Amino acid sequence: MKSWVEVPQNSDFPIQNIPFGIFKTPTLGARVGVAIGDHVLDLAILHQEGFLEGFNLPERVFFQPFLNDFMALGKDITTAVRVRIAEILEEHNPELRDRADMRAHVLFRQDEVQMQMPVQVMNYTDFYSSEQHARNVGTMFRDPENALLPNWKHLPVGYHGRASSILVSGTPFHRPKGQTKADHTDLPAFGPSRLLDFELEMAFITCRENQLGDSLSTSEVDDYVFGFVLFNDWSARDLQKWEYVPLGPFLAKSFASHISPWVVTLEALDAFRMAGPEQSPEVLPYLKDEGQAHFDVHLEVGLQPKNQQETIISQSNFKHMYWNYRQQLAHQSVNGCNLKVGDMYASGTISGPEPSSYGSMLELSWRGTQPIKLMGGEERKFVQDHDTIIMRGYAEKEGVRIGFGEVMAQVLPAKQ
Ligand code: CA
Repeated sequence: MKSWVEVPQNSDFPIQNIPFGIFKTPTLGARVGVAIGDHVLDLAILHQEGFLEGFNLPERVFFQPFLNDFMALGKDITTAVRVRIAEILEEHNPELRDRADMRAHVLFRQDEVQMQMPVQVMNYTDFYSSEQHARNVGTMFRDPENALLPNWKHLPVGYHGRASSILVSGTPFHRPKGQTKADHTDLPAFGPSRLLDFELEMAFITCRENQLGDSLSTSEVDDYVFGFVLFNDWSARDLQKWEYVPLGPFLAKSFASHISPWVVTLEALDAFRMAGPEQSPEVLPYLKDEGQAHFDVHLEVGLQPKNQQETIISQSNFKHMYWNYRQQLAHQSVNGCNLKVGDMYASGTISGPEPSSYGSMLELSWRGTQPIKLMGGEERKFVQDHDTIIMRGYAEKEGVRIGFGEVMAQVLPAKQ
């Protein structure tokens, strides 16, 4: 299947993808669009002009600053709308293709629009579901012999994070400040974090609520998941080390996280499903699933110092997860916690088995003991002021590439 809109070779956004996002232009307010090649299709105008009839869509559903209202229509409708959009863009369909006046109104080049946060994030959970990452961190900070804590293979460990500071790609942020305590001192000090790190993650976004008290089974989860984005979970390792006992991460994580602007639907990822690792010991019944709930998505991280070239410092894959998204959401709701439309669930740092596939500076530089060499000649143990971190991801099979675009952000010096 091809589109009449030109899609460059190696584009993340062929007609098989159709990811949803929110964009604005210098003259038009925020609205819903989909990506196709190097372009954005304006769904607000497309709907206004009658191209999306038959779905009973609310009149203003695409004239919104977030996808929440659209996602809340439910999978039956949002999936059908996505199929209809692909039909409109299909190379043999003249409906829009042959109407130059209309095309000029609904198609924008991506470089002439500004991408916004795609969803209003209601709640944010961060899991810890890559075994290699958990082993690396456990080895560094505790004991190589007991790197995984006793609960780790029985439940997807997670914590509730901060929703308000989740930012869209391209938004700069300031280095966080806080309390740290060096091993050789008795008292904590205050100041800018000196061990700023990224975490390479993916996150899924929910599109349906459950009633307080009701739990989801793993087989129900797909109806509640709209799609995935790339997720950079910034972490201040020195703040984290001092504050995390006994309740877990707090200010070391809540200052900023970044996401990619296009939400790739669960349906677009169907062709890239695969089995996960065998889980032993056997999990409790509520965590069992039918399999094929992992995804083969190539991931990479680039570090670019100011005015210098980018160095790719990690290449990983979303398949390197122990717990999958169905198990994560079943676990999140097993106690009767109610999910909201627009919740975000991050995977946890995705580290593969090779050192070159580790998903954080902490692991790549092994706690700062093995500095990373950059193309320009500099070295890094952690992220410096004015560095830009760029994460990219795509799945590819039989000539079809479903990509996520990128999530990038520059670190500014701490505010005075
Ligand atoms: Ca994390």
